[in-house]
Amino acid sequence: MGMEIREQVELAGLTTFGVGGPARFFVEVASEEELVAAWQWARYRGMDLFVLGGGSNLLVRDEGFAGLVVKMSVMGVKELGDGLVEVGAGESWDGFVTYCVERRFAGVECLAGIPGSVGGTPVQNVGAYGQEVSETIEGVRVLDRLTGEFLELGKAACRFRYRESLFNTDVPGRYVVTKVRFKLRVDGEPTLKYAELKQRVGESAVSLAEVARLVREIRRGKGMLIVEGDPDCRSAGSFFKNPVVAEELLERIGGDVPHWPAGEGLVKIPAAWLLEHAGFVKGFGTGTVGISSRHTLALVNRGGATFEDVEKLEWEIVAKVWEKFGVGLVREPVVLG
Ligand SMILES: Cc1cc2nc3c(=O)[nH]c(=O)nc-3n(C[C@H](O)[C@H](O)[C@H](O)COP(=O)(O)OP(=O)(O)OC[C@H]3O[C@@H](n4cnc5c(N)ncnc54)[C@H](O)[C@@H]3O)c2cc1C
Repeated sequence: MGMEIREQVELAGLTTFGVGGPARFFVEVASEEELVAAWQWARYRGMDLFVLGGGSNLLVRDEGFAGLVVKMSVMGVKELGDGLVEVGAGESWDGFVTYCVERRFAGVECLAGIPGSVGGTPVQNVGAYGQEVSETIEGVRVLDRLTGEFLELGKAACRFRYRESLFNTDVPGRYVVTKVRFKLRVDGEPTLKYAELKQRVGESAVSLAEVARLVREIRRGKGMLIVEGDPDCRSAGSFFKNPVVAEELLERIGGDVPHWPAGEGLVKIPAAWLLEHAGFVKGFGTGTVGISSRHTLALVNRGGATFEDVEKLEWEIVAKVWEKFGVGLVREPVVLG
């Protein structure tokens, strides 16, 4: 096999949060053939395999991972006409957004500034500022780790929901995404659904590029853009999902809790509101892990943090919110190890 399998490779530096131990084995794959070879290598040894994208939704445990970490580096952007674009899973997501905006392809402009890889976006159906990636994904090419075969999964088969898909719920880890096909709106109008974004745009007509710029600006203000030297962006983005609860629970939680419909008899409530009203405000914590000074939902590594430190604060928050509101918070980032 042409690729190099390395041993005891530190993973913390390959994640945005920056905690955790090494991978027992590590390999970077630049093609589907290399991916299959890596999969066979691990299978032959009865070893677990984990696919790493940009490491921006990932926390590694302190003891590391005893299997093979496969760093996804399948590249390439291929236009198939009429706004259909096939993109290698290893491409940078934000780079792809810039590409679309430059080509005047609408549909992903509000997702500007989200770190990580293209292949990582279908996994948790990435969303922000009024768009979700599932709105523009037409299909996904995957390696099925059970059979070793490649499959083309259409959008319906991906079973996209809020921060969920086939890939992170039904059969987590079974499918390795190698390519994603997007259907974008050629010369389309930008999506302006999110209140803060609408307000910044005002009444005038605005280009896709301007919307992407404004989104990055808003994100930067919240420490949700990776900026070298910004201590608030050493995070994994939002740490908790916004809980979906039965409507009847609203009163118990508190009459003034903001909420929006989430299916029959259900409402979604902002996890940030729960945290703030349970005492976990911006800047909380004096240790190595705390809450971002600009975004309540982001736990940040203030330097020298371990996974154990993260877990300690996580449990403290989850327990307090449960005690106060009877709502169970669910972690958004993936934990490896
Ligand atoms: C500052 C900051 C802001 C963020 N803002 C947002 C936001 O606004 N909205 C949002 O939804 N998310 C946000 N995130 C979270 C994160 O950026 C996204 O979830 C991103 O899509 C993760 O992609 P990744 O390549 O970094 O995945 P990784 O962190 O490397 O992996 C995450 C999971 O996806 C799996 N995975 C990755 N690539 C593949 C593949 N090719 N095939 C199969 N499985 C794969 C991994 O195995 C793992 O289970 C933010 C994160 C940070 C640090």
